[in-house]
Amino acid sequence: MYEFIPDNPYILLTPGPLSTSKGVRNALLRDWCTWDADYNEDIVQNIRRRLVALATAKTEDYTVVLMQGSGSFSVEAALGSIIPPEGKVLMLTNGAYGKRAVKMAKVLKINHTEYELLETEAPDPEKVTAMLKEDPGITHVVMVHCETTTGMLNPLEEIARAVKAQGKIFIADAMSSFGGIPMDIAEMDIDYLVSSSNKCIQGVPGFAFVIAKRNELKKCEGIARSLCLDLYDQWKEMDKTGKWRYTSPTHIVRAFYQALDELEAEGGIRARHARYQENQKLLSEGMTELGFEALLPAELQSPIITSFLYPEADFNFGTFYKKMKERGFVLYPGKISQVDTFRIGNIGEVYPDDIRRLIKVIREIRPVSSHT
Ligand SMILES: *Cc1c(COP(=O)(O)O)cnc(C)c1O
Repeated sequence: MYEFIPDNPYILLTPGPLSTSKGVRNALLRDWCTWDADYNEDIVQNIRRRLVALATAKTEDYTVVLMQGSGSFSVEAALGSIIPPEGKVLMLTNGAYGKRAVKMAKVLKINHTEYELLETEAPDPEKVTAMLKEDPGITHVVMVHCETTTGMLNPLEEIARAVKAQGKIFIADAMSSFGGIPMDIAEMDIDYLVSSSNKCIQGVPGFAFVIAKRNELKKCEGIARSLCLDLYDQWKEMDKTGKWRYTSPTHIVRAFYQALDELEAEGGIRARHARYQENQKLLSEGMTELGFEALLPAELQSPIITSFLYPEADFNFGTFYKKMKERGFVLYPGKISQVDTFRIGNIGEVYPDDIRRLIKVIREIRPVSSHT
């Protein structure tokens, strides 16, 4: 039926937007009526049920709210709709995404405090416990799971345990890990988890979602500091009929449905995680062999994205980037303040053979790239 699906001129080794399959891009190519069951029930509600099932075996305790916009819009929706005016949030920060959440709290005038770490440092659960004991006014804790800034995998389970032991509400930004790393949020007792359409589920960008403990979300009526980003109201409306409160990103939603089908066909989150791990392993072995050094030690490294140090002080990333893009690979600049880095992502429609080709291409261009 649809004939023109162009090949991509390059693969994106950038964690969002990322390379998507032809099947996902194909699914974008028709229009949908948003007031009938063939969209609202068969696609929107179906997606919601499948997302909860991906997050936990205890599906009855959780629900999911889909929200227009990129991932940050849903982080902001969550913070602004969950933390009541008398609440106070502890933010764990070891990268740009943790810092962005702090900025949101400032803009939203939410009372907050920060456990600030270096970008190469993992949060310590004991320190979190101590901070919560010291300041009983703290009601909520926010942490990023995979800090995409560096590729660090923060200790989600240990931090969740510390937070819940003190009876606080835990909000996890699992934007770049959900769907790519196995987890059960009910087992970890996580209250809210935020992710988006264009990361490990491998859809196209345009909406995000908050998986929420029903009993907690129920308490959030009237808290929102924004009309459009009111998580509670969006939930209430969506729960009734699958309708989004304002225009639904129909094509993106339909493509996401296809992405979920493809995740299942691949063998689910475990199989996808294994592929990402294989990608990361080939990448770090290949890069090490070529003389590059990873920013993080292996035990802190996620299978999602890897940061590499500039191999020499006069390394010209701009030239390297351009040569790589001409050869079909888009890399990602670094984002950390302490040292010069660049990043290579493993997620999306990217397979071990792509990483082998990548390493081969870097080997070919490397001798010139560093001194031009
Ligand atoms: C991608 C990402 C976000 C959201 O970024 P957007 O550009 O708004 O989609 C938030 N947190 C983390 C950890 C991410 O990787």
